[in-house]
Amino acid sequence: MNNEQPKIPQATAKRLPLYYRFLKNLHASGKQRVSSAELSEAVKVDPATIRRDFSYFGALGKKGYGYNVNYLLSFFRKTLDQDEITEVALFGVGNLGTAFLNYNFMKNNNTKIVMAFDVDQKKVGKEVGGVPVYHLDELENRLHEGIPVAILTVPAPAAQWITDRLVQKGIKGILNFTPARLNVPKHICVHHIDLAVELQSLVYFLKNYPADKGEN
Ligand code: ATP
Repeated sequence: MNNEQPKIPQATAKRLPLYYRFLKNLHASGKQRVSSAELSEAVKVDPATIRRDFSYFGALGKKGYGYNVNYLLSFFRKTLDQDEITEVALFGVGNLGTAFLNYNFMKNNNTKIVMAFDVDQKKVGKEVGGVPVYHLDELENRLHEGIPVAILTVPAPAAQWITDRLVQKGIKGILNFTPARLNVPKHICVHHIDLAVELQSLVYFLKNYPADKGEN
């Protein structure tokens, strides 16, 4: 991964893919520049936040001109490692795991699930969405340093044990879709997405803060 970029705040970093996707569409439609107001409308982030975020990228929009789309795109491409494909391994080929294997992440970003693991003999040895499914016992043999990221879609009780083995193999990041809270060494980055919790929290917001937009 690219370590030469200046450090940007985590909250800003999380918005990068959002900006990147929108700018790619703008670029494809031939637009050369974009104002923070236009961006704000499209990505639903307030213009002041966008201006602050972009100042970290060294992109200083000019009044009445806006931001240069090409400059921003090339910055994002570098920062998000879009010039090289990041390979990903997936654990747990259930309903959610299968959906991810069938989903073409390459459409919007340069990440690619290249192998999957499960313990179910009916799934092992097959391909799902063109991705080979190996037995979990093969984790140590199959996983290599060219695969820095893992997605966990296993049942919660299996998550920590798999995580420990991934850490041993030198994984750098884990996208955890299980409800389990993972213990990892400080240098490993875990992003946790519990879809049930997200849905519940949305329903709660609708009931209790109907006037707010509910974004964070
Ligand atoms: P989902 O939770 O994605 O909807 P599901 O309901 O079909 O899936 P789960 O019981 O959640 O099934 O299991 C998800 C997948 O994880 C299944 O394919 C299961 O075989 C697999 N699995 C279970 N235990 C392990 C493990 N220890 N290592 C790898 N895969 C596992």
